[in-house]
Amino acid sequence: LTVLGIESSCDDTAAAVVRLNSTATVLSSVVYGQTGLHADFGGVVPEIAARAHAEKLDHCIEEALTQAKLSLTDLDGIAVTAGPGLIGGVLSGVMCAKGLSAATGLPLIGVNHLAGHALTPCLTDNVAFPFLMLLVSGGHCQFLIANGPDDFKRLGGTIDDAPGEAFDKTARILGLPQPGGPSVEQAAKIGDPKRFKLPRPLLDRPGCDMSFSGLKTAMLRARDGIVLEKQGLTKADQADLSAGFQAAITDVLVEKSRRALTEYLTLRPATPTLAVAGGVAANGQIRDGLQRLCAELGVAFTAPPLALCTDNAAMIAYVGLTRLANGDIDDLTLSARPRWPLDSTAAPMLGSGK
Ligand code: ATP
Ligand code: FE
Repeated sequence: LTVLGIESSCDDTAAAVVRLNSTATVLSSVVYGQTGLHADFGGVVPEIAARAHAEKLDHCIEEALTQAKLSLTDLDGIAVTAGPGLIGGVLSGVMCAKGLSAATGLPLIGVNHLAGHALTPCLTDNVAFPFLMLLVSGGHCQFLIANGPDDFKRLGGTIDDAPGEAFDKTARILGLPQPGGPSVEQAAKIGDPKRFKLPRPLLDRPGCDMSFSGLKTAMLRARDGIVLEKQGLTKADQADLSAGFQAAITDVLVEKSRRALTEYLTLRPATPTLAVAGGVAANGQIRDGLQRLCAELGVAFTAPPLALCTDNAAMIAYVGLTRLANGDIDDLTLSARPRWPLDSTAAPMLGSGK
């Protein structure tokens, strides 16, 4: 089976072709970023994002097919992110996928973006169910027991901001470019993580819930303190603040992963595995910290290659393939869902941003 994936839920327009024989192979994965378009606004502007997706999707899909050396008639299905995300962008992708499906007669599969992230380890490392997933991205942060491709049980997660959002805000506070994750990680390389005392929120409380909004406020205070004293930030200040921030996030994620794993291990899984996914999983220090924790606890650890941590359409095509293989497809009534929790037992998150 061969499926085209389409992703447009935030600020990356992406298309990919993935083939499933006994294992899955990524034949192509094309990502057009939009960061330049939003640079003057301090964040992703939904209207601008939606328009850019609508303009670029055709070309992106053509490019993915060309790189895979295939045409539409070689495909078995079209998978598209149907949520959660910025509704205008999601709609651009869903409309495009519906058009292609109607024109070709190919089955349409509406995919949950978070399932795409959470199942990436199955695509890249053939990880078998069940496994413990730390999904840590621009809008989400949660521990999930993945029992099957559409069976997730949430153990806990952030009660406010997501770490990716905190990385992006920290970059803004420090005058570093967007997206914040890579630029803060780069700046932190030459920084002293101990110069600023930053909080590790909720570590003193039991359970796997996390909080990152206090850390953001602490960064703002630390920066304002320096600016007041010296009328600006030096490269060394930026580096030390970045290193302190990254160390605090890493400590929280690693310590809470220890708790989530302890809880998970009481279920006695046959081959205990922790997998991490989402944009923040691209961070080297966080990957190293989780790797060390798993080595200590005798648990297998896997993290996708960096390009498949941040948004991409290969993960969407992969979920589409697993659904198509089970005959679980949608029709042209498919709708875009701005909110769509992975854990079906979770209460609907009414009124929350993402
Ligand atoms: P969601 O998947 O929750 O809907 P999203 O799709 O916007 O949100 P992703 O593309 O999965 O998020 O991840 C983007 C986030 O990952 C951004 O906030 C970015 O700063 C962060 N990120 C990317 N690379 C790194 C890195 N090396 N270190 C830390 N964070 C990173
Ligand atoms: Fe994402």
